Amino acid sequence: MLSGRTGAYAVAMGACLVLMSCAPRGSDRPYAPGDGTPRPGPVAAAPADAGLIDAPLDGQTRARIAQAAGAGVAACAASLGAARVTFDPVPDRVDSATCGLSQAGVLAVDLGTVARLVPAAPTMTCETALAFSVWRRQSVEPAAREIFGQDVVQIDHFGTYACRSVSNRPGARPSAHSLAAAIDFGGVRLRDGRRITVAADWRGDTDEARFLRRIRDDACRIFGTVLSPDYDAPHQDHLHLEPGARPFCR
Ligand SMILES: [Zn+2]
Repeated sequence: MLSGRTGAYAVAMGACLVLMSCAPRGSDRPYAPGDGTPRPGPVAAAPADAGLIDAPLDGQTRARIAQAAGAGVAACAASLGAARVTFDPVPDRVDSATCGLSQAGVLAVDLGTVARLVPAAPTMTCETALAFSVWRRQSVEPAAREIFGQDVVQIDHFGTYACRSVSNRPGARPSAHSLAAAIDFGGVRLRDGRRITVAADWRGDTDEARFLRRIRDDACRIFGTVLSPDYDAPHQDHLHLEPGARPFCR
């Protein structure tokens, strides 16, 4: 099921696998493997929070995302659904001692935006889906309209779920990608066909560079760990976006 996506990811992230430093120190959460059986959802889902995705960024954005994700995957999916973001939960599962899915699902169409995600329908934790959806609507789209005067029609990513450890050694801590708890952003395509990529446009004094740095800075208010080309060599072609309570922004 994951072979295609994981394979593409492995190609795109080959440098990361070799250099073994895609995830930062301290960015990985402890992995607690279960017994492989799906956990029951909450008895009563919290009221869907449609405002979460459409609220402008402020000092509480990260806390609101964590709260909505902490309500359980059903309530989290309902919050996304209330904002017309399609998120289909998948059963928890353990793929290895350090790799698996919990509170995860498939992020499908966002009917509130024209910026479609490519490759489509990646699997990720619901918290990642929440944070990404906030970022798409509250940062990526408005920044493109402001700087370029046009819509983002496509957001390109390098993947979400990849079974690997931070150090790629047996027994080492798993990367956030081992839990589908991060997404690697590669760039966007505008309505006029222009393509903007982290790899080609990060540096310089261009509108493209300003756009990329702005959405990186916004991401730092939404996600917990954000790693850009400013961080290290393996992140020269993407932004690593990982939700979490501990801000680490480079
Ligand atoms: Zn990453």
